[in-house]
Amino acid sequence: MIELDYDNITSTAFQLRCTACGDIHNIDSKHKLCSCGKVLFADYDLEKAKDTLDKSSFHKRRYDIWRMAEIMPVFDNKYRFTLGEGWTPVVKINNLGEMLGLKNLYLKDESFNPTGSFKSRGLCAAVSRAVELGINDFVIPTAGNAGAALAAYAARTKSKAHVFMPEDTPPFIVREIKALGADARLVDGIITDAGKIAKEEAEKEDWFDVSTLKEPYRVEGKKTMGLELAEQFSWSLPDVIVYPTGGGTGIIGMWKAFDELEQLGFIDSQRPRMISVQSSTCAPIVKAFKEGKDHAEFWEDAHTIAAGLRVPSAIADYLILQTIRDSKGTAIAVDDLTIKIAMNQLAKEEGIMLSPEAAATVASLDLLIDDGDITKEEKVVIFGTGSGLTTPEEW
Ligand SMILES: *Cc1c(COP(=O)(O)O)cnc(C)c1O
Ligand SMILES: [Zn+2]
Repeated sequence: MIELDYDNITSTAFQLRCTACGDIHNIDSKHKLCSCGKVLFADYDLEKAKDTLDKSSFHKRRYDIWRMAEIMPVFDNKYRFTLGEGWTPVVKINNLGEMLGLKNLYLKDESFNPTGSFKSRGLCAAVSRAVELGINDFVIPTAGNAGAALAAYAARTKSKAHVFMPEDTPPFIVREIKALGADARLVDGIITDAGKIAKEEAEKEDWFDVSTLKEPYRVEGKKTMGLELAEQFSWSLPDVIVYPTGGGTGIIGMWKAFDELEQLGFIDSQRPRMISVQSSTCAPIVKAFKEGKDHAEFWEDAHTIAAGLRVPSAIADYLILQTIRDSKGTAIAVDDLTIKIAMNQLAKEEGIMLSPEAAATVASLDLLIDDGDITKEEKVVIFGTGSGLTTPEEW
């Protein structure tokens, strides 16, 4: 295999910028949120990135999230840790496509990632950059998948992971998190309750909080889904992306990727319509979108079998809503029974057993076609965010 010497490739990240107030922060600081309480993004010098990042070098590049290292947040190659995350397949799912009358239906199958979900992309980036900055004690609240991913990368980097999760987290994931050497704590409540306790403990113990979008680098890891999609579709993006949305890191990250790729000259200004799918029993983003609001209200009594979508309040709600609107997309809710049917359908029709969150995208297609939000000829990509193997037994 021909490989580029990544020792000679450095990140072109040069500042952190607040997505709300625009304040600029030092790229080398251990920043979490902006002082205004909103989300920070890393900015890259894309003109400089062009010096080495050109299409002719791609056949020599790594097949993990560090493939386009110039526009990733780690500077020194020895901190580009990997467990083989990223570069997941895009599969054309013809059988389901035919049943639905969609001629170009694709699935990006994220179940191939370490620990069985796309959470490994974000945690790989966040942990790697934090370790480069000298941090090695991490804390995370999780519905399961993010905790498993953090535990894996903490083990890989010889760091410590403290994982706070709801008592009803699937036993398989709890075992996995413990097996990976993390300090696993079960919390009475749901992810927002776990988040509160995690935050308190983090402040008391001086642990670094890698909650969704509370630090700027998980979104950089999720951005790689957008980078890959562009390359896998020969630098011409699909018409529609259907994404199961919890905290929204993926939808926001991909949108950031597309902007950067356009500035690099890799793609034109054409963008997919971004469609956000939630569970009808926890749909704060769908509600806010329909009501034309810029922020989402807290969703009371959130419950759904799609644990990754059980996020009653997302810190980046304003960015998710802005992305959906800028892309001329939409947001849609599906109920748990429909998700369950779709999960079985995907498994039996296509031979791919995915998690309920992933199945929610399949479940939404009928409704989206009926509403005229997608049409027969369009290239539609659904995101299979996690493996069905970590789903609780009653499935
Ligand atoms: C976390 C998670 C989601 C939601 O992802 P966000 O990018 O935070 O919205 C969807 N599916 C699975 C399997 C997850 O673990
Ligand atoms: Zn700010």
